[in-house]
Amino acid sequence: MSEFELIQRYFTQRQSPPSYVTLGIGDDCALMAPSAGMQLAISSDMLVAGRHFFPDADARMLGHKALAVNLSDLAAMGATPRAFTLALALPQVDESWLREFSQGLFALADRHHCHLIGGDTTKGPLNICITVLGDVPPHQALRRDSAKVGDDIWVSGTLGDARLALASYLRQQTISDEAHRQSAARLHQPIPRIELGLALRGIAHAGIDISDGLIGDLGHILQRSAVGATLDCDALPFGSILAQQAIQTRYEYALAGGDDYELCFTAAPSDHAAVLAAAQRAQTPVTCIGKIEAQSGLRLVDKNKQALHLSLNSFDHFSS
Ligand code: ADP
Ligand code: MG
Repeated sequence: MSEFELIQRYFTQRQSPPSYVTLGIGDDCALMAPSAGMQLAISSDMLVAGRHFFPDADARMLGHKALAVNLSDLAAMGATPRAFTLALALPQVDESWLREFSQGLFALADRHHCHLIGGDTTKGPLNICITVLGDVPPHQALRRDSAKVGDDIWVSGTLGDARLALASYLRQQTISDEAHRQSAARLHQPIPRIELGLALRGIAHAGIDISDGLIGDLGHILQRSAVGATLDCDALPFGSILAQQAIQTRYEYALAGGDDYELCFTAAPSDHAAVLAAAQRAQTPVTCIGKIEAQSGLRLVDKNKQALHLSLNSFDHFSS
């Protein structure tokens, strides 16, 4: 099969292109008309076999996840998804793999009206790189450098089940088959919190998506905003499977696990009710887990405000 036939067969989206896509797949570049008065939000994420997923990973779930992790970045910025490109290195043309991969990819793309406008296809070790384009009104993006002293710290959904699934795959934890199945769904099928990101426009100050673990990702907000924070570890929304584990495991996986793809954001305490209303509009649960403070560094406490001394490391590709 030629590269052209492959793209035609597997990477032509059924959902017709939105009007802002002036020219889609097939020319040297795609052409897109940016929305008037909006800023473009652009982000890329690469998934490498053996690094980000097991080489025998389910193709449909991989299609979902490759786009989901990118949409999660748009969500974390409060941006509306508009379009994406797909650069793909494939070891061979495996038609059943391609069919499944594209079904997983397009099911999520269609849900968010995000259109595939181009990409590149080459032979090589399996590698999936997606670039997403979205838009956001000026001054409303949830930037990492915008946390204010006194802000509440919030997190969406639940944390740590994806890390628990990984631990089960790696035989670091023993859990029941049913617990494994449920937590693995969190690992392979993250839900990008697009609706929440949009609902938080004009309310939240700073925001980030949790891909490498809460403390590491919140740490980026603290550093870029030149502030510190205290987290109440007993307020953390543990994943439903993780909640059945020992307390040390709960703390560790919720604070320093990866692959949660929840949003962590800050907002003024006076906007507490506004955040809850936004979360309700987005049908996404949120939990207040701490405070932004002037004193630099991150302090972990329990519900009695006693300091917790946990040794935790967030995931870093170049130090692990
Ligand atoms: P070029 O040689 O100019 O890079 P290609 O022959 O690689 O062009 O690609 C032809 C067209 O197909 C381009 O519009 C490109 O964006 C698109 N394309 C290539 N690979 C993919 C893919 N994996 N998904 C979507 N579009 C793709
Ligand atoms: Mg090319």
